[in-house]
Amino acid sequence: VKFIPVDFRRRQNQLRTALNHSRLDALLITHLPNIRYLCGFTGSAGVLLLSQTTSVFFTDGRYREHAQAEVLDSRVVMARKPALAIAGEWLTRNQSKLKVRRIGFDSEHMSVADRKRLAMNLPSFQLRDAPPLVEQARQVKDGGEMQALRAAVDLGASLFQQALGTIRPGVKENEVAASIEFAARKAGAEAMSFETIIASGPRSALPHGRASRAAIPTRGFVLCDFGVILAGYCSDMTRTVYVGHPTAPARALYEAVEEAQHAAIQAVQPGVSLGEVDRAARNILQRRGLGRYFTHSTGHGVGLEIHEPPRVAAGAKEILVPGMVITIEPGAYIPGKWGVRIEDMVLVTERACEVLTPTTKALILV
Ligand code: ZN
Ligand code: ZN
Repeated sequence: VKFIPVDFRRRQNQLRTALNHSRLDALLITHLPNIRYLCGFTGSAGVLLLSQTTSVFFTDGRYREHAQAEVLDSRVVMARKPALAIAGEWLTRNQSKLKVRRIGFDSEHMSVADRKRLAMNLPSFQLRDAPPLVEQARQVKDGGEMQALRAAVDLGASLFQQALGTIRPGVKENEVAASIEFAARKAGAEAMSFETIIASGPRSALPHGRASRAAIPTRGFVLCDFGVILAGYCSDMTRTVYVGHPTAPARALYEAVEEAQHAAIQAVQPGVSLGEVDRAARNILQRRGLGRYFTHSTGHGVGLEIHEPPRVAAGAKEILVPGMVITIEPGAYIPGKWGVRIEDMVLVTERACEVLTPTTKALILV
C-alpha cells in the first residue's frame, strides 16, 4: 500500500490555534505518539517544542539517523544527554528571540521528577499544565490515517479467518495466539497492537484473558481479541466463537451481546454523546438481566495508540464528530462460567457511521 504523505505543517498549525485558545506560548510535547503525529519521529526518546513561530525536535545522539530520516517540518537539535535536558538548555539560550514565556506541558505524560527538574532548569519560564490538545486533534483522522487504519483492520480480519482453522479442542490458547501472531508478521504487521487475548471455556469470563497454556475444552466459548499495527496505526477486533454445539443459554448470552453491539453501532452518528452510545449497549444487556455482567466501557478511540481518547463510557459527555474512529465492544462475563464480547472498529461519517471490521457477527461454531 502506498500511503498519502502526512501534512505535518497542517497538524502543527491546527495545534497553534489550539495553543492560542489555551493562552499558551508554546507546548512541550513528551508523549511519543503525539510527537510522531506532529513531526514523524518513530523512535523512543525525544521531545518536541511547538511555538507560534517554530517547531523544534530534541533527541539524543542515538537517534541521529532516525531523526534525520523521519522528522519533517521541524528543526532537529541533538546532544549527548536526555532530550528534556537538551530542550531546557535550548529554551534558555533562545528565550529572547523566541518570545515564549508560558509553556504548556502534558502532565499525563511527564513524571513528577522530570517536571521538577524542568522547573529548576527553566526559572524564567512559566510552566503550565496543558489540556490534552494533541490527543484532541488526533481523535479526528485524516485521509492518510484512514488508509492506514483500514489496512490494519483488513489485515486483522484476515488473521481471524486463519485463527479459526486452529481453534479446536485440545489446542492450547497459546498456540492459537502464536499462529495469529506469526501470520501477522508474515503479512507485514509491525507488531501486535496489544497482547493477544485467547480465552477459552471458563477463562472467557475474564475480560482480559491473555492467551495461556490452557487447552481449549471440548465445548464452550473461545473469546479472541487481537490487533495489529500497520504504518503505525492499530487495529482491534474481538470475536467469540463456540466449540461444540451451543446450549440454549449459550445462544441467549451470545445473542444478547450481539444485540447490544448492534444497538450501540446504530447509535453512532455525529452530534451524539459517547455516553449515549454506551447507554444503547448497556440498556440491552440490562433488559436481559445481564447489566451487572457488563463490567467495562463500551469502547475507546483507536489510532496511533490502541487506547486513545475518546472513551465510549457511561456518562461521557464528549460529542461524536465525523472522522472519529472508535471501537464498539460490549461484553457479558459470568464469573467461573463463560463470557462473550464482540468488537468492531467504527468510523463516524457525515451522517452516521461505517463499520470498518468486515467480519461476520453471526455465532461461529467450530
Ligand atoms: Zn479488543
Ligand atoms: Zn478494544
